Amino acid sequence: MKIAFIGLGNMGGGMAANLVKAGHDVRAFDLSDAALAAAKDAGCTAFTAASEACADAEAVVSMLPNGAIVKSVYESDVIGTAPAGAVLLDCSTIDVATAREVIAAAQGAGYDMVDAPVSGGIAAANGGTLTFMVGGTAEAFGRAEVILNAMGKAVIHAGDAGNGQAAKICNNMLLAVQMIGTAEAFSMADKLGLDAQTFYDISSVSSGQCWSMTSYCPVPGVGPQSPSDNDYQGGFASALMLKDLRLAMEAAETSGASTPLGKHSQEIYEEFAADNGGLDFSAIIKTL
Ligand code: NAD
Repeated sequence: MKIAFIGLGNMGGGMAANLVKAGHDVRAFDLSDAALAAAKDAGCTAFTAASEACADAEAVVSMLPNGAIVKSVYESDVIGTAPAGAVLLDCSTIDVATAREVIAAAQGAGYDMVDAPVSGGIAAANGGTLTFMVGGTAEAFGRAEVILNAMGKAVIHAGDAGNGQAAKICNNMLLAVQMIGTAEAFSMADKLGLDAQTFYDISSVSSGQCWSMTSYCPVPGVGPQSPSDNDYQGGFASALMLKDLRLAMEAAETSGASTPLGKHSQEIYEEFAADNGGLDFSAIIKTL
């Protein structure tokens, strides 16, 4: 299939390479020459404008930094440029309202379109093991699923347009709250003279058990290998967690949801990411 791919950064680069490996004809565009050159090395055809990459495409996939960029790229270079009948997939993490607005505009112009944000970082993007949470009509989902399967291990239909983004920010808000809680528990255990490994052995089989503890422990040397064992390098950057918390709080406000712990988590990561945005989000334990 001829697939235009817009946004070949940390995530998009690996995703586009996996589409090539699956046998697709990938037409790549990025504002960065370095990203475009890497995509070419991975077997994509490089284009000098998004509109050119989309002109002859049967599908368009985007992996861009934020909602304003997604809206502008789709309005200027995708909708009305990609051939009628192409299916459009935005995999970026953006606000629910913009996702719904862009999808409505695409549908109005006769395209099937989904929002399909991902769970999983750069390693999962490179390895083709992302989880996609997809919003859109059943028909759009069916068409997108075939393409997403080449880049991920799970593709889940979350409901109507924008629901992929809704699932993503609800999940990541929960993750932030859970990680801060896990870090607090280990810090207090330490103050009380309880060894971290002993606390892990007890809590990981008790009611405090959670993913942040048993799969991604913020204490080095405890639990399976995680970024804490590598001085909090790699993993999921605090700056990206903060981005998702801001989107979550924006959505809480517009939808009228009550999220006091989500709000406090955002405040905590705002302060932490100001100087430590590149560190994995589990490094929040350093502040306690
Ligand atoms: P990135 O900054 O590495 O890549 C974004 C790419 O988009 C860059 O190469 C940039 O040059 C390009 N770009 C920007 N504006 C453009 C435009 N107008 N036209 C074409 N290209 C343009 O970011 P990333 O880490 O790859 O993240 C991409 C998206 O994935 C974000 O929405 C992010 O929140 C989400 N995400 C990232 C991770 C992660 O671990 N990095 C995990 C899950 C989701």
